[in-house]
Amino acid sequence: MADFETPEMKEYPEIPHIQVGTMAHSKPFVAKEEFQEALGFPGELVDNWQQVAYDKMEELTGKYRSLAVFLDSCVKCGACTDKCHYYLGTSDPKNMPVARQDLFRKVYRRKFTFAGKYFPKLVGAVDLTEEVLNDWYTYFHQCSQCRRCSVYCPYGIDTAEISMAAREVMDEIGMGQKYCNEIIAKVYKIGNNLGLPQPALANTLEGLEEDIEDETGVTVRLPLDVKGADVLVVTPSADFFAEPHVDGLIGYAKVFHESGISWTLSSHASEAANFGMFIGSYENMRKVALRIREAALDLGVKRIIFGECGHAWRVAYNFLNTLAGPFDFLDPKYPVPMHIMEFTHDLIQRDALTLDKSANDDMVLTFHDSCNVARASRMGPKPGGQFTLPRDVIRASCNHFYDMPQDTIHEATYCCGGGGGLLTDDLMELRVKGALPRMEALKHVVDKYGVTHMAAICAICKSQFAKVLPYYGFQMDSIVSVHQLVSNAIVLGNKQ
Ligand code: SF4
Ligand code: SF4
Repeated sequence: MADFETPEMKEYPEIPHIQVGTMAHSKPFVAKEEFQEALGFPGELVDNWQQVAYDKMEELTGKYRSLAVFLDSCVKCGACTDKCHYYLGTSDPKNMPVARQDLFRKVYRRKFTFAGKYFPKLVGAVDLTEEVLNDWYTYFHQCSQCRRCSVYCPYGIDTAEISMAAREVMDEIGMGQKYCNEIIAKVYKIGNNLGLPQPALANTLEGLEEDIEDETGVTVRLPLDVKGADVLVVTPSADFFAEPHVDGLIGYAKVFHESGISWTLSSHASEAANFGMFIGSYENMRKVALRIREAALDLGVKRIIFGECGHAWRVAYNFLNTLAGPFDFLDPKYPVPMHIMEFTHDLIQRDALTLDKSANDDMVLTFHDSCNVARASRMGPKPGGQFTLPRDVIRASCNHFYDMPQDTIHEATYCCGGGGGLLTDDLMELRVKGALPRMEALKHVVDKYGVTHMAAICAICKSQFAKVLPYYGFQMDSIVSVHQLVSNAIVLGNKQ
């Protein structure tokens, strides 16, 4: 365990007293030259970084009107101040969403507004000095881009978008973040965040097929690079090996087996995650997304289905068509893209799966809404499907389910603390402290209903919780995949 104190869980969430600068020391490693350059950014801080940053800010505020509106419209009402899990967990006032935005806004005002140019002190406008840049690097890497604050802002100001813009400006001057940029570079080179090459992937999938057969006596395939399959499944690479993710992948395979619909994974598009969004880079987001189009065309599939990954679904749901479309070569009967939850939910609705709920009787479950799914996407044909579909699938797979308090779920959900490109050990203190509100909500249902496990549909949430749960006295394996529950409950070979 790292050298910091885990916050104390309270019965009811408390708004902390401000402690200035408590997280000023927390920052991720800067990206190495090779990873910066792989993404098309300068390898190190450029000489005229200040001017390059101003030029980029001008470009971004011109290109993205929402960004300029967000920067111009804050009235300092304070409604967002206590809504960020990082403020609640760290007490650092610069983790209040409005204060985080102001780090960018005060430079924007200085350079791009009349008042800021001529009366800077009156409007709190400042130049982008080294000190301000240092604050940007520190505190824009303490925002998981979860959008919770935007739900409570009367003007809908989205701090996530400002944080993405700040990171893009920093990349542009040669000050990118190691974790995200190294991962994106790996996707370009090998195809996935983990750097898992095709032979290793094929080997892993074969091993999983053997495990399923040993356990169930049924041959369930996990096909790779099969031309002519109906469905291409694009899933986070963590699904290929990490617990509890891999149990979810086994669940997808069993669902496809029962459905009789042919499917395949792809070694070219072996990564659903798209860290291009975290660094605010449209170009990199597009380059990552295009691999999915290329794989779909190459394999000749009719549908693309995404596995359990929160931000991948945000990118897919919101942007895939414009980033990598048109998808006019796919079957028009199905939405592009589709979520594995929609696929499984539909089969359950049509009574095409047999699920024995008692197989999960050793667990009492709750569900963590992942922020990118909850606040930045939808699922299924009806509004709010992103909340109801996963819960329907869980309830169809187990007998004991209880939701956490209302103000911590659905669109009010708290981030796991590790999203937005912050799932790195360099930021462990931030990750543990940022998980506090979710841990308090979990404790509530543990104490009240005897909840033993929390299910999630996001690879980052699963990895983050597996790491931080023990800091709060919970078992690391009390986080599970939703399709792991389906996998436990599904009765193979029961439907024709
Ligand atoms: S987007 Fe999320 S992490 Fe960022 S400031 Fe808002 S609440 Fe905090
Ligand atoms: S809630 Fe919106 S308008 Fe109010 S301080 Fe926060 S960002 Fe500004």
